[in-house]
Amino acid sequence: MTKRVSAISLLRICDNRKEILDMKEVIVKTGIRNTRPHQVDKVSGLKSESNGQFDYLKDFVAKRFEQKYPSMDFLTAWIEYNHLQDFKISDNVESVGGISEQAHYIMRVITEYHIGQAFKAMKIDMNDPNVGGEKGTPYRVAKMYCGDDLNDDSELLSGRWSHRPHMASFPNESGQKYPITKRVDIVSVCSHHTAPFSTLFRDGSYAVISYIPDEKVLGISKLQRIVDWVARRGHLQENLTKMIYDEVSKAAETKSVYVKLSGLVHTCESLRGTQSNEGAFTSEYYDGGFTNYDLRREVSSQ
Ligand SMILES: [Zn+2]
Repeated sequence: MTKRVSAISLLRICDNRKEILDMKEVIVKTGIRNTRPHQVDKVSGLKSESNGQFDYLKDFVAKRFEQKYPSMDFLTAWIEYNHLQDFKISDNVESVGGISEQAHYIMRVITEYHIGQAFKAMKIDMNDPNVGGEKGTPYRVAKMYCGDDLNDDSELLSGRWSHRPHMASFPNESGQKYPITKRVDIVSVCSHHTAPFSTLFRDGSYAVISYIPDEKVLGISKLQRIVDWVARRGHLQENLTKMIYDEVSKAAETKSVYVKLSGLVHTCESLRGTQSNEGAFTSEYYDGGFTNYDLRREVSSQ
């Protein structure tokens, strides 16, 4: 939107078409999507935020950045971070154009700082060696939320940042027309409390994914990785179910996909509040050949 407004106002005030095109190019190239005033940095020549949201932390972050990436340019990564748009807790950063490893690191340092501040606000003694220190609890919590880097797919919200795993597909040479079914584990957090919900907390809880191949068959060993990539974000379980459906459907190029998450325990309910497992939650999403109830029952009992 901002891009368009900028270009139109330029059209009004400037007759030189060449200049207009140049300006459009600058706006597109820098990916500037907000209306905050900018200034050009004398050293790098890059446009810089004059009032970035976290400018008060710039020196603190720069020091940490230089230790981690001694040969990289801090300012480039700082500008990239400041221009990154907010995106939903259930999305991956690819939805706003992706991020570099260095800008991700800046995000993690800023997150760590503010988690430390939240602990101070709660009057938690930061001199306690189990909490404070250079890589203390704020560092660990920031890592738990953000992931260590863009290849880390093992943290609670790492699926917001990590690279999309490649899901290989092959021609369906044997003409397989029966459902291919796999059980997977789900580890996710609810977007309301960021408390985990999972198939791992109770016997009898499971997640099943099934699809009827059309032209393609999937390298099914990668299915758990794509599920982790989608699940390790903040979700409502029913939306997560649909998102897994969409990913599998896209990769297998068929709408005949069935996803069932059965009896997942939500710790925001089981460990706090009502403290009950009664509400273990089941959700499913399907289309194509799986509108057949008997077929769904058959694959979910496999
Ligand atoms: Zn919750």
